[in-house]
Amino acid sequence: MSLPIKDILDHLHINDINHAFSTGTQWGSSDNAVTKDIVSPTDGKKIAAVKFATADEYNTVVETAKKAFKTWRQIPAPKRGEIVRQIGDSLRENKKQLGTLVSYEMGKSLQEGYGEVQEMIDICDFAVGLSRQLYGLTMHSERPEHRMYEQYHPLGIVGVISAFNFPVAVWSWNAMLAWVCGDVCIWKPSEKTPLTAIACQHIAQEVFKRNNIDEGVSCLVIGDRNIGELMSNDTRVPLVSATGSTRMGKAVSAAVGARLGKSLLELGGNNAIIITENADLDMSLIGAVFGAVGTAGQRCTSTRRLIIHESVYEAFKQKLISAYGQIKIGDPLNENNHMGPLIDQDAVSLYLDSIEKCKAEGGKFVVEGGKLEGEAYSSGCYVKPCIAEVENHYKIVQHETFAPILYLIKYADLDEAIELQNGVPQGLSSAIMTNNLREAERFLSYAGSDCGIANVNIGTSGAEIGGAFGGEKETGGGRESGSDAWKVYMRRQTNTINYSKTLPLAQGIKFDL
Ligand code: NAD
Repeated sequence: MSLPIKDILDHLHINDINHAFSTGTQWGSSDNAVTKDIVSPTDGKKIAAVKFATADEYNTVVETAKKAFKTWRQIPAPKRGEIVRQIGDSLRENKKQLGTLVSYEMGKSLQEGYGEVQEMIDICDFAVGLSRQLYGLTMHSERPEHRMYEQYHPLGIVGVISAFNFPVAVWSWNAMLAWVCGDVCIWKPSEKTPLTAIACQHIAQEVFKRNNIDEGVSCLVIGDRNIGELMSNDTRVPLVSATGSTRMGKAVSAAVGARLGKSLLELGGNNAIIITENADLDMSLIGAVFGAVGTAGQRCTSTRRLIIHESVYEAFKQKLISAYGQIKIGDPLNENNHMGPLIDQDAVSLYLDSIEKCKAEGGKFVVEGGKLEGEAYSSGCYVKPCIAEVENHYKIVQHETFAPILYLIKYADLDEAIELQNGVPQGLSSAIMTNNLREAERFLSYAGSDCGIANVNIGTSGAEIGGAFGGEKETGGGRESGSDAWKVYMRRQTNTINYSKTLPLAQGIKFDL
């Protein structure tokens, strides 16, 4: 780490008087606001305190955003793209500081913290190009001298509820696209990682101010699920984009659905890599270990299950055991370490509980887990990555434990492996490691993976912003980021224009007066 944390906090305007909400130029909080200390899982030290917004403050933010939408939507999309371009530049300038704070507040490695900010920069670039597209279709009318086309208009307020594990990137995937589409955004970050959100709000706010853009286009509300629930039930918020656990997604989907609003859900995964008898085992090892141990197993795309062909099972298991022996665990700001802490001590308890449940169901640990003790691990959030041999149907294997526990499952035939890979409630990311074309194509076919992401000779973890990101089944069905994911932030309108001198009806219907 090159800069002391204190300098980084000053640079990013993080201090103990941070307010509970921001409408862009205004920050505020009430005197009796709930205050929460934000503690780093890396060293257990308090970084800063935040205040939670009240329902009244939430309401103020929504009213400001509603007003801002009326002017923001009038600005031509490429001009909105220009603002997003400047935000991308500002993120480039602040990459080191913001990336370090992501690492310190959330506990992911410094490289991953920088990577997360890079993802934000990438989506800004993507959104700038998109701002000159946003195209609809034209189609031929069955009536003479008529023209038909469809166009996209902005929706209004987009509510963004985000999870702790990608504390800033998920907001940018939503906000940058929503902004070029002409929407305004209200962000409710995870209550576990609000400081990086405050930093992002300052960065965006400075750009909006510099361009004399009304307040209310970029809003932030700090709070827990109460704010998320207000947003989900709020008819003034036409789209709620929610990233987090399947439990949360079901609640958001029910509330938004009850008012016939739109929701974009990015929920839990239970991702597997199939390692076939034709796999390059060295390549597979890198994909598997990074997928299981990266971000301490706290990615929605983390590799949780390895489905390995019986002919290479023992050899690959030995390679894994030997690789796990070399993993360095410790301060994520130290670039020599491979794995940092879990987000908090509750997450450690859930991890320990899952190990016990796995053993109770018959799981055999070939690399033992456990909590790490000692001065270097004084935050109480560090654990050992572990590996267990299991059956796919175990209750604990069907469940997403957000921690570095890797399950090994043996298979004999590819269709059986695909069935095992699909045989969980979640459907986010999946991969096959093989040099056999038939195996690869089978995995990608209609009879193959049922996930939103299916890779060949790449692990399950991580994705490029150019593709649409998201998953099926209990992952929620949403798509964010690249490709045509922007369409969810807009409403579609079909237009028919008659430039003839008569009024012919469709389907040849006659209505003579
Ligand atoms: P979480 O569900 O506990 O919280 C996520 C967010 O939802 C927080 O901001 C929280 O305050 C809010 N929330 C919680 N209950 C709510 C409710 N009833 N109504 C409205 N808002 C509510 O998740 P987490 O522990 O922060 O994150 C981990 C989870 O997120 C994992 O399951 C992971 O797989 C998932 N995740 C998915 C993706 C994806 O793109 N599919 C990306 C990142 C994380």
